[in-house]
Amino acid sequence: MTEKPVVLMPEDIQRIMGKDAQRNNILAAKMVSEIVKTTLGPKGMDKMLVSPTNDIVVTNDGVTILDEMQIEHPAAKMMVEIAKTQESEVGDGTTTAVMIAGKLLENAEKLLDKKIHPTIITKGYRIAAEKTQEILKEISLKISPEDEDILKQIAMTAMTGKGAEGLKEKFAEIIVKAVKQIGDFQTSLTEFGKKQIGDFQSSAEDIERKQIQHNGKIDLNDIKIEKSKGNSIKDTELISGIVLDKEKVSADMPKVVYDAKIALVDFALELKNPEIDTKISISSPEQLQSFIQQEEESIKDMVGKIEMSGANVVFCQKGVDDFAQYLLSKKNIYVCRRVAKSDMEKISKATGGKIVSNLNELASPELGYAQIVEEVKHGEDTLTYIKGCKNPKALTILIHGGTEHVLDETERALKDGMGDVASSMKTGLVVPGGGAIEIELAHRLRHFGQSLSGREQLAVEEFASALEFIPTTLAENAGIDPIDILTELKSRHDAGEKNAGINLFTNKVENVLEARIIEPYKIKSQAINSASEVAIMILRIDDVIASTDKTGSMNSMTGGMPGMPGY
Ligand code: ADP
Ligand code: MG
Repeated sequence: MTEKPVVLMPEDIQRIMGKDAQRNNILAAKMVSEIVKTTLGPKGMDKMLVSPTNDIVVTNDGVTILDEMQIEHPAAKMMVEIAKTQESEVGDGTTTAVMIAGKLLENAEKLLDKKIHPTIITKGYRIAAEKTQEILKEISLKISPEDEDILKQIAMTAMTGKGAEGLKEKFAEIIVKAVKQIGDFQTSLTEFGKKQIGDFQSSAEDIERKQIQHNGKIDLNDIKIEKSKGNSIKDTELISGIVLDKEKVSADMPKVVYDAKIALVDFALELKNPEIDTKISISSPEQLQSFIQQEEESIKDMVGKIEMSGANVVFCQKGVDDFAQYLLSKKNIYVCRRVAKSDMEKISKATGGKIVSNLNELASPELGYAQIVEEVKHGEDTLTYIKGCKNPKALTILIHGGTEHVLDETERALKDGMGDVASSMKTGLVVPGGGAIEIELAHRLRHFGQSLSGREQLAVEEFASALEFIPTTLAENAGIDPIDILTELKSRHDAGEKNAGINLFTNKVENVLEARIIEPYKIKSQAINSASEVAIMILRIDDVIASTDKTGSMNSMTGGMPGMPGY
């Protein structure tokens, strides 16, 4: 008797099972990690990314690279998500996070080859991840928001080797000043006093005892970053207030307005646009005349209302037509049009003005206030400065630079620095960089692993060695032999030198705290957390069931990465 074959799924479903699924996913994850690896650290290289429309991005920022690459393989996409989470949670450390995840999976493959079941591996990894977090917290060093020197070092460490390299000292100052200004801290300073790097002794538990008080409110969106092409990058400045990439709409308007009373309008100051399908039939010149008059009356009415409100500055989110411009300039009102919505919101927050979205409110809006609104020319760009705002926390970092690529990469470097300073201030915890923290974690983790059963111990061992991938790559990217460095680092940590790391200013293994290579605790805790979560998730997959799209091509399971051979 012949039985009919059982059909579970339609034919166009692609399925990869068991070992194949695992190996395919691990390979994809490794490839993602390989891509960003060469960019790690101050001696890392940059990538040039060219979009289908020939836009060019030159960067060594992990998340930017992965984002631009439009990766499609499902497991590889999970790796990209790690970078995105890292970016939104900390604002730096994206390469580190992706590399640790990639190495965890690569090392898991070695265990799979030894016929260790994925369940054992994931269990070992989970134990290791938890223990690592515990150790990390224990050995992190505490700082207070008043430790400006240390915060500057953190910003500088974040920017070393980036677009801002030559000016990182100046930028670090701008960053620390800016972040401190927007942060809300009530630190009980007397508990700490001013500290020197050498006093970095106490552990995280001390902090809990001494209770750093802060409400953790640092919203980096309060710092506007504006870019201006023309001057030199060294002219980059911190401006207290808002800088808009806009010029006033008419040359007849005043160049400067003191004591600015600002109306924020989110509709067009224009003749009403008739709907596409509205037909106006005009049969005589008189009719046309009266129609135009009517429209002009409505513009006059709008401008009259603005004048009545007492506003001498208008920021309009939409268009402002010629007739309205003419009337407004006759009243000496400063007007910018087509201001981005996000900027309208920033101006509203900074000046205390409310955005008006209704014609009737126009005569009595809640006006914003600033001491000065001024048009300023820089090279090719004309900008509007809004200074002396009601809210002193409104800040803009205005980046100057010769080309768009320089401006963009400088912005990314500044954002890394801002993220690191903000997160160090929030948690009050920092760690030594240059791979020192990773080596110390690996060292202590191995020690802990000895208390576990054989197979789990192997997984913990692989977890530890994945962490060591950071210092070895830092060395490799600087052209230094990674094995020599790892051996030296390990032996010095065995001897109790817990701050020994690779200093890439001198290319030697040294006390990196003394060399002032310092990073926020949160970079590492977040990176270890998401890397291990994703590695565990990928290892637990033994079946990939993918539907194909209409064109019949496989839904990205085989050759999803542009420029990459299929696998
Ligand atoms: P990520 O995207 O992970 O932040 P980066 O390219 O910014 O990657 O590199 C960060 C790494 O570079 C960290 O491990 C940090 O400790 C290290 N680093 C920064 N400055 C130095 C330095 N002067 N010497 C050695 N390592 C450094
Ligand atoms: Mg970084």
